[in-house]
Amino acid sequence: MRHVVVISTGGTIASRWQGDGYAAEAAGQEVLAAGAVPESVDVTVVDLFTVNSSRLTTDHQLRLLHTVHEVLADPSVDGVVVTHGTDTLEESAFFLDLFHRDRRPVVFTGAQRPLDAEDGDAAGNLYDALLTAATGRDIGAVIVFAGQVFAARGTVKKHTVDARAFGDPDGLPLGRVEFGRVSWGRRRSRPAALPLPAPRAAAPRVDILMHHSDGDAVLLDASLAAGARGVVVVGTGAGNANPQVAGSVARATADGVLVAVSTRVAAGAVAPLYTGGGAVDLAAAGALLAGTLRPGQARIAVLAALLAAGAPGADGADAAQILRGILEAAPQALPVSELYLIDRVGK
Ligand code: ASP
Repeated sequence: MRHVVVISTGGTIASRWQGDGYAAEAAGQEVLAAGAVPESVDVTVVDLFTVNSSRLTTDHQLRLLHTVHEVLADPSVDGVVVTHGTDTLEESAFFLDLFHRDRRPVVFTGAQRPLDAEDGDAAGNLYDALLTAATGRDIGAVIVFAGQVFAARGTVKKHTVDARAFGDPDGLPLGRVEFGRVSWGRRRSRPAALPLPAPRAAAPRVDILMHHSDGDAVLLDASLAAGARGVVVVGTGAGNANPQVAGSVARATADGVLVAVSTRVAAGAVAPLYTGGGAVDLAAAGALLAGTLRPGQARIAVLAALLAAGAPGADGADAAQILRGILEAAPQALPVSELYLIDRVGK
């Protein structure tokens, strides 16, 4: 038998109708009872919290991170499944992936239809997640949904209600779960894990600000005034904004605030192509370009870098250096200089 620990955190997979809308209320055992457990797997359930994932905080994510590490301290555990709301699942999964140093996986899953739906997707997703957790090795944190296994990094919620909720706009799934077995594609190398933050580490404020036509730096300045230690500027196109935003970014980085640039476009990497407030100027102002990470995961990269720099034993570590390492570790992200050269071909 393989032993899998299921950590229940809420989400639609644990939700029922409340009279005026759905909310998470079921305990992990009830979620598990919605479907079958693979024959070769036995399960222990940990009820960590019962929230819809748009309400999660960094403190919740730190508790989840430490609970997974505690569970994996037991050598009889073969893998971990986390049931989670789909809204911010890609954030928690990437957060745990960045700190994951164990060969055994942590498999995130959830559902798009509530636990009490007759045509629900909870049972199938949980079954596939249990199989993946029991058998997968050296895959870090992954997302199992609608018969596919995705690396946490790069995967986003791509549809509000469709059962095929997740995908990587710039990459392929790691594997598939069909007919009770997991088949794997090409292995991917994994970067070294970041130093683990203290269980009760103070959570730094990290904000996301989206640029748009007629945009200015008012919200970015407000975020800095509110004490943000990190900011993600979600640029237009390949990561562009305007001179006001570039000026505010320069002031932020001069104050030691970490700034990353992502894009509001659904696929493709940000690249230093345009000046006049574009990604060329944001990078010159000290912002780091987040490759193909979409905004929610770019924010997690900044948050993780700040927490890792303050982790026990990481004294003197430079958060900007750690963030650079995270961003450059993306298998699909070309180094910025190469993107630049590709753009210059023929000139
Ligand atoms: N609102 C839910 C949540 O993220 C959505 C879901 O789980 O599918 O908790």
